[in-house]
Amino acid sequence: MVNGYSGSMITILLVFGTRPEAIKLFPVVRALAATPGFRVRTCVTAQHRGLLDQVLDLADLVPDIDLDLMEPGQSLDRLTARLLAGLGEAIDVERPDLVVVHGDTATAMAGALAAYYRRVPVAHVEAGLRSGDILHPWPEEVNRRIVAAIAAHHFAPTETAAAALLAETIDPATVHVTGNTVIDALRWTEARIAADPSLAAGLDEIAARFARKRLLLVTTHRRENFGGGMEAIARAIGRIADRPDVAVLFPVHPNPAVGTVMEAVLGDRANVARVAPLDYPHFVRALGLCTLVLTDSGGVQEEAPAFGKPVLVMRETTERPEGVAAGTARLVGTDEGRIVAEVTRLLDDDTAYAAMARAHNPFGDGQAATRIAALLRHAYVRDDPVVVELIDPAARAAPPSIVVARDCAPQLVRL
Ligand code: UDP
Repeated sequence: MVNGYSGSMITILLVFGTRPEAIKLFPVVRALAATPGFRVRTCVTAQHRGLLDQVLDLADLVPDIDLDLMEPGQSLDRLTARLLAGLGEAIDVERPDLVVVHGDTATAMAGALAAYYRRVPVAHVEAGLRSGDILHPWPEEVNRRIVAAIAAHHFAPTETAAAALLAETIDPATVHVTGNTVIDALRWTEARIAADPSLAAGLDEIAARFARKRLLLVTTHRRENFGGGMEAIARAIGRIADRPDVAVLFPVHPNPAVGTVMEAVLGDRANVARVAPLDYPHFVRALGLCTLVLTDSGGVQEEAPAFGKPVLVMRETTERPEGVAAGTARLVGTDEGRIVAEVTRLLDDDTAYAAMARAHNPFGDGQAATRIAALLRHAYVRDDPVVVELIDPAARAAPPSIVVARDCAPQLVRL
């Protein structure tokens, strides 16, 4: 008996391997583990070893299976082959009733495929994001589409993502708008920092060093930007950092394709703090402290609007158009002159800055994981007398989607 539940247990295996997957899935692990009727197992592939472990430590999450598949410089096909074989074996050992994957990584794609080969249903968290271009983001756009072709449950973070799935003729009964679990992770982490400021205290020194400057938070790691794009980004950061009123905080992704270029172009500039990747509490604190964000990251595009921080996205397309539509994000590509001009405009034009710097949460309300757990309980735990109201009606114009319970007096759960 777990969580007071005495019926037969449903085993759910969550599979993940990278930092963003861990950040966005740990709230789901917690919500499922607190749900009567579920036995929760986790398998990590460690596609990003060090960055993944930072998040596991924070969330106090000890994986049941650790495939430890990271090899420096391995090709996408070798990685994918090893993921598929390793995850297939993990599923054979765990014999889950459901496999949960997240987003667009090789781990998510291989996990979904391995489950499909065994006819185990798949739930896809952060489903339905589409750029419409299979080369941007590469190869993530295709990873996501493969998972969508397989999944039995599609948890779309936004109405836009749900609409993209419906346009691909995915069965509407399997598509649910839940919000993005990254906002759950963010809120949970903010509460942890509030209770224990020492969790993010490492940023105090940087904050003191740049106290009278405006802080630009930079991250970049996208494969499409390796090479010429990365060099242009580095030169743009160098030019921006020449301004005496600006300092740059730049947690450098461990991929050598990033660090080598940044080292060569930026050297030891006084106004640029190139640091190792920040653990999540420090990164959350940095988002709170900065004036604006320059990034090609997916997750950071979703988090910065929650802090009311303008985000300049160093990509040509985005599968997260909600920030752009809300006016808090802007696509600036990787042209050196364009990046410098857009940053300069925000730094020098208060009206332009104020127009973008509005706290806004197009990506979620911090309750996504609770909704996902309630939906899965409704789908798998047969005696579940629950009706889930997916989205707070006050938060959207259209009437809320309602999942009606089977054969029992419904109880309305407002999430
Ligand atoms: N992040 C972090 N430390 C850093 C940089 C980013 O914890 O130094 C977090 C960030 O808050 C976001 C996630 O990592 O939640 C984004 O990961 P990444 O940019 O690697 O991947 P993407 O979101 O583009 O898939």
